[in-house]
Amino acid sequence: MKIRTKLTLLYVIITASILLVFASVVYYSASQNREKEFYSLLKKEAITKANLFFDAEVEPKTLQDIYRRNREVINEVEVAIYNADFYLLYHDALDIDFVKETRGMVDSVLLNGAIEFYQENWQVIGLRYNYEGIDYAITAAAYDDYGYTKLLNLRKTISMLFVISVIFIFLAGMIFSKRFFAPVRQMTHQVNNITIRNLGMRLQHKSNDDELSELAATFNRMLNRLEESFEAQNTFVSNISHELRTPLTAIITELELSANANRSVSEYMQVIENALSDAKRMNRLSNSLLDLAKASFDSYKIKFKPVRIDELIIDARQQVQKGNPDYHIDIRFEQDFEDENQIVVNGNEYLLKVAFSNLFENGCKFSGNNQSTLSVSFSEKLIILKFMDLGMGIPENEQQHIFTPFYRGTNSVHTEGNGIGLSLTKKIITLHKGSIHVESKLHKGTTFTVKLAHQ
Ligand code: ADP
Repeated sequence: MKIRTKLTLLYVIITASILLVFASVVYYSASQNREKEFYSLLKKEAITKANLFFDAEVEPKTLQDIYRRNREVINEVEVAIYNADFYLLYHDALDIDFVKETRGMVDSVLLNGAIEFYQENWQVIGLRYNYEGIDYAITAAAYDDYGYTKLLNLRKTISMLFVISVIFIFLAGMIFSKRFFAPVRQMTHQVNNITIRNLGMRLQHKSNDDELSELAATFNRMLNRLEESFEAQNTFVSNISHELRTPLTAIITELELSANANRSVSEYMQVIENALSDAKRMNRLSNSLLDLAKASFDSYKIKFKPVRIDELIIDARQQVQKGNPDYHIDIRFEQDFEDENQIVVNGNEYLLKVAFSNLFENGCKFSGNNQSTLSVSFSEKLIILKFMDLGMGIPENEQQHIFTPFYRGTNSVHTEGNGIGLSLTKKIITLHKGSIHVESKLHKGTTFTVKLAHQ
């Protein structure tokens, strides 16, 4: 069921229930009033007839004639008068005699002063009447035809009004909910039209701050992020294909040329060497991409365990120096750690080693003396690692781009690389909830500061 229908039904049910309670209270109070008023009318009639009978000494025959005549047009009250010995002194019409008085009833009237009760739909009252010091019991009974008709009319009016109101409320609910949900329908329609080809489309919304505008604005912000990430992915893919195509084309061209001509052994050796160097370049790229894919996993999919950073940096240095024997890497501990936990972080050994190797390698690669120095220090909660070199430095306007995948600075023209190293390093450090910052001065050197939380 649609929310719109649900809301309308809920609105109708609540309003109809309130109306029903309201109508019931009105009807109940009208019916109570009718009963009370009719009892008081009966009392008046009883007293009037008793006065006529005792005080005015009107003949019983005359009173009975009046009763019979009135009865033909209105619901006349039937009155009877008894003395304390249950002797019937007067009765309006013995042949009709609707109320069958009993001795007990007369005694109860004389004792209590007044009684009220129903006999079928007839209302009956009993009244003590004192004349010249003697108590008499008077009963009066009648059917409140007028009152019941009025009540019936009220019931009919209330029911009719109730049905009309419910229909009106339902229609109003439908109209308002349609109007209220119009922007939602519009948004659904617009969202349905957004595809990968027109990711630039945005939801129209009014600038007021109701919930729907907020939802549309949030959705638009999400689209911005999606569009950015799609663009980044496209750039990434075209960068990869470019990086792969260049060495591949070089290999194919060289091999084709050598296959079509007779070459000397030294020329063939040269071709093989070139092809090998290109293949190595591609291998490095595919390894970096593999590491990037690993670091891009959700952190819960990567195995974390306590890792000793001192051992890890020594391993990373060994790894870098194995591939580049002319690289010099110094490691300095600025202070002794007070307890073992200070040098331990919860991390992934493989990925951290990749990150530190990249920083060592860059330090050596971008400095004339191929020298990188690592200083290790601690704060209360952090291990602080400073990878320093006295190399060519990074121009200020380039520093904000160096962590972007495939970005290579102007200083990298004569060095080998693919521009993935730093973006991968940053990803790994972020994955470990750490931070990485760069400080660099052109021709003076560069320092990368990595901060990781220790145990
Ligand atoms: P690559 O080393 O393959 O070029 P990186 O992602 O490791 O790619 O680095 C990106 C760029 O940042 C480099 O091309 C270089 O311009 C700059 N860079 C990184 N480290 C240093 C450094 N220690 N000294 C000077 N420039 C650096």
